[in-house]
Amino acid sequence: MATATTPQPTRQDYHVEYPNDWCPGCGDFGILSAVQQALAALQLLPHQVALFGGIGCSGKAVYYLPTYGIHTLHGRVLPYATGAKLANPDLTVIAIGGDGDGLGIGAGHFVNTGRRNVDLTYILFNNAIYGLTKGQAAPTLPLGAQTKSFPEPTIQGAINPLMLALASGYTWIGRGYAYHVRHLVELIQRAIRHPGLAYLDVLQPCPTYNDLHTKDWFAGKDLAAGQARLYDLEQEGYDPVIPAGADDKMVFDKMTQCIAKAHEWGERIALGVLLENHTLSSFQERLGTRLKSYRQAPPARRTIANALGHPTTGLSALFSELAVT
Ligand code: SF4
Repeated sequence: MATATTPQPTRQDYHVEYPNDWCPGCGDFGILSAVQQALAALQLLPHQVALFGGIGCSGKAVYYLPTYGIHTLHGRVLPYATGAKLANPDLTVIAIGGDGDGLGIGAGHFVNTGRRNVDLTYILFNNAIYGLTKGQAAPTLPLGAQTKSFPEPTIQGAINPLMLALASGYTWIGRGYAYHVRHLVELIQRAIRHPGLAYLDVLQPCPTYNDLHTKDWFAGKDLAAGQARLYDLEQEGYDPVIPAGADDKMVFDKMTQCIAKAHEWGERIALGVLLENHTLSSFQERLGTRLKSYRQAPPARRTIANALGHPTTGLSALFSELAVT
């Protein structure tokens, strides 16, 4: 995470006057608001943050924030974010995308990014449908579900993104809900503060195409009176932290409780931090151990031209460091 400097930013510093074409009532608005509030609360200035958006309704968030930003290629948001963080470790890097983008065409990058533990935050807008292309079944829609945009129920099963994140090696795993904005602000701050790869799954109602996972459904209005579907793990005393130096048994036990919570769905859905693992080094640390020149001067800090704009890049020192003798 980048270090804050004066002047102190406010939420207003993260407001952008740009036409927003998300549908009225879309859960994306709650997530955008939470990101704005979290960045201001962390006292980060917009130029200290780089945001990368996938393809889909969610990916447009890069236009609605005044940070550095790139609307990337379909499924490729994590390679962009990884490259930016490795080039400039001082940046706070956030990747944003939908479940179709990240768990469909981008599934290979989702898994392989987990192996590296790069210090960045991936926020996945999970609405179980492809909103931008008129509501087809996305990878998190359960087998047999039929939304109003389908002629028949889906005959494909669903990916559980929390389980996939755990299996792939993400060291921080959490889940929020788009309309619980205050809770989401806290989760985003915790994800950004985590010194490794953070995956934040956000349940996001799409009122235009998904009439199954609606605001009323998440509120438990179909359940017995007083029964809540969404609950906060923290309020139940759940402890997700695996401290540095933890033994194998503790790691196993914490991962087992994460699996149990990740599998809950239907009448009880857990929100909060499911796993916070401090036993692994970040990819930047591993790279710095391998390449001394990276630690001293990552790419963004290297001088590449003289005062006249002539290139001064010399690769001989790097080549000699990499030489196999
Ligand atoms: Fe939101 Fe769905 Fe509209 Fe996309 S199609 S902007 S996800 S409500």
